[in-house]
Amino acid sequence: MELRPCSRGVKSVTACELVTTVKILHAGATITSGVILPHWVGSASAVVPAAATSAPHIRPRQDWGADLPPTGPLDAEQPGDVRFLLVHHSASANDYETSGVAAQIRSFYHLHTSPSKGWHDVAYNFLVDRFGGVWEGRQGSTTQPVKGDATGGSQGYAILCCFIGNHEAAPPSQEAQQAMVALLAWLADSYAIDTAPGATTSFTSRGSNRWPPGASVTTTTIAGHRDMSHTACPGDASYELVKNTFPQLVTQARLAR
Ligand SMILES: [Zn+2]
Repeated sequence: MELRPCSRGVKSVTACELVTTVKILHAGATITSGVILPHWVGSASAVVPAAATSAPHIRPRQDWGADLPPTGPLDAEQPGDVRFLLVHHSASANDYETSGVAAQIRSFYHLHTSPSKGWHDVAYNFLVDRFGGVWEGRQGSTTQPVKGDATGGSQGYAILCCFIGNHEAAPPSQEAQQAMVALLAWLADSYAIDTAPGATTSFTSRGSNRWPPGASVTTTTIAGHRDMSHTACPGDASYELVKNTFPQLVTQARLAR
């Protein structure tokens, strides 16, 4: 990875130091694939000063889907087009064991790539299990802003993060909540998203069953799937957390590191 801002002679020494700090943080991060999201490098404006959140440990896609490649091409958002973070739940059982997480993600993959959905990979960029494990979902999501898919259509401009479980009535476990907050904090730093409580972003929808193509959408920067489509996802018990609790926790996590 090049340090373009520094090698070009950035006037501010601080800018160089910040970029270097990000590299050091991520060189030592525990993300298994060991890569840095590319737009962190070469774009000083994408570097969040003094709050470069280190990556959570993320199980790579190969841990659940080495033999299940994407069934077609996957596109990525353009730099700067990741505007918000979108939380889902899988609406599946809550009583699974650690040994069953990979099998669950495989079942999501099979459903999502089946003719009924017709997507090219599991829909979500990342998944969080009830034990606090974080998994790469859609291939390439740890290295670039791969576009996801969602029931009701994906309006774009988001990274999709899914609780594995059903949170219509039961909230995610404390471990899952903490892991999701850490994941969202890292992504928010990666894509320079303002997560302060009440922060919003606006964009023109690419189309969903709630926001047709061309519709102007304004949303909180941490949102639930139901904000984008006509769906109950991510369940009442997690939607409340997503909207009212996570923005402050995510922002605190970013500032604390
Ligand atoms: Zn959803």
